[in-house]
Amino acid sequence: MNSENAVPELAEPNLRALLATAGLDVEYVRAEGNTLYRRSETGGESVEIPVLDCAGGYGSLMFGHNHPELLAVARRLLDDHTPVHAQFSSHPYANSLAAELNRIIRRETGSEEWYFATFANSGAEAVEAAVKHAELDRVLRLAELTERIEATGDQVRAAVDSGAAVLPDEVLTRLGVERPAGTGAAGGADAVEAALAKITEENARLRAKAPVFLALEGGFHGKLMGSVQLTHNAGYREPFAALGVRTRFVPDGRPEALEEILKEEGATLLQLVVEDGLVRVVEHPHPVFCAFLVEPIQGEGGIRPLSKELARSIQAFGEAADCPVVIDEVQSGMGRTGALLASSHLGLRGDYYALAKSLGGGLAKASVMLVRESRYRPQFELVHSSTFAKDSFSCHIALKVLELLEADDGRAYRQATERGAALHGALERVRAAFPDVVKDVRGKGLMLGFEFQDQSLADDETIAGAAGTGMFGYVIAGHLLHAHGIRTFPTASATNTLRFEPSVLLTDDEIGRIEKALTDACEILRAQASDRLVTS
Ligand code: PMP
Repeated sequence: MNSENAVPELAEPNLRALLATAGLDVEYVRAEGNTLYRRSETGGESVEIPVLDCAGGYGSLMFGHNHPELLAVARRLLDDHTPVHAQFSSHPYANSLAAELNRIIRRETGSEEWYFATFANSGAEAVEAAVKHAELDRVLRLAELTERIEATGDQVRAAVDSGAAVLPDEVLTRLGVERPAGTGAAGGADAVEAALAKITEENARLRAKAPVFLALEGGFHGKLMGSVQLTHNAGYREPFAALGVRTRFVPDGRPEALEEILKEEGATLLQLVVEDGLVRVVEHPHPVFCAFLVEPIQGEGGIRPLSKELARSIQAFGEAADCPVVIDEVQSGMGRTGALLASSHLGLRGDYYALAKSLGGGLAKASVMLVRESRYRPQFELVHSSTFAKDSFSCHIALKVLELLEADDGRAYRQATERGAALHGALERVRAAFPDVVKDVRGKGLMLGFEFQDQSLADDETIAGAAGTGMFGYVIAGHLLHAHGIRTFPTASATNTLRFEPSVLLTDDEIGRIEKALTDACEILRAQASDRLVTS
């Protein structure tokens, strides 16, 4: 029986078929540096065609594919039979990694606080770990506050009972409670009980409210059950809305939006206290805000750098609302913008950081969530774990990645800045030559976006059709691949923008190839000549 023929394609066949419509379902069989080799059949023979990889593992290849020094670490670990999986044991290498991350973060941000590390396996997982920790912290803060509030209830009862304090009418009016008949103006046990009951009820109502998350419009924080609700793209998020957290998406360019949210969502928990023989109401801000998620440069939202003004507003909101800021550096971090943290360029300080992608050096799946000491809840370590996280293989590779970043007084950061500027210059030249076709070039270091003008009303029906179905960027990517041997992809939530996230190894020659290829794509678009697009 030929069972192979009987088995249908089972590994995401729909996605592969969609990629095929733009010629993007190619198979890569080997990779080194910025080059991927794709398999192709020519005259019945299998050949390898080199492709310049500008998608860079969607930002996971700061040092390119199979970097020799990272490979050497991987080989040594395997040859030494390193115990890769040893959950619930001592992991000194994980500690070294956390310490080295702290050293660099202190240097870049000026922070004097430690950041504790929770390791995970993917970007979305690190984001979810941060959010889970933030919620544990919020729930514990709420419980501590509730305990303090309830503790003064007995003091108020005793003071009023003994005649040491009176309960003024305005307190009852303020609470919307009528003074029980016969308790008199001097106060009384029944009135105190009624006031306390009302406060308990109101506070309980607030405590039962679901936490509010904030994230930016256009933001992307993963596609897991929790993180997808923090990702703005409605196509990814909405089908799963019933499963997840409540997020308020904040627009850029409307500074008053944060104040409005604070007003709409903020509330106060009430407490009765005795002061100078009078019972008074004290207000405490209700910790309803769980976390504010922010990317210093939105990756999947179209490579959009956060403005300094918005960064400042987010920081101020975090402080005013006691809302921790979670800086998602999954794509922008690990040196790509010329610093370990892209947020350090903005002076934006995180209560949490999420790092992933290049942390694993393109070989291991690794991510980490960092939380600052003043917010840290040690009990989190007992309620969050993963079989695979913190393993020796990924930690040692990540340590080597940091060593490569920091070598020669940070040569890799400088390379990212310098190579990025050279590439930016090339993209900008194409934009300047084709302003009718290219809308914008954005980004920092080796995280650049090249945005096309909307083509949905194009004369060429094929081009307009692709734009109408969100496939435009993919069709251009297919052409760049097949006509020029260049791999890039549109960003996930802004498909008119192509991403350029090559490694620090990018050469002038490769930049020249990118410029030539984009010039060709722009000429085709200007001529509205879809017949010249090559997609196989
Ligand atoms: N956050 C950001 C900013 C990302 O760019 C991504 C992935 N593109 C993620 C989170 C999710 O990472 P992963 O795919 O590793 O889960």
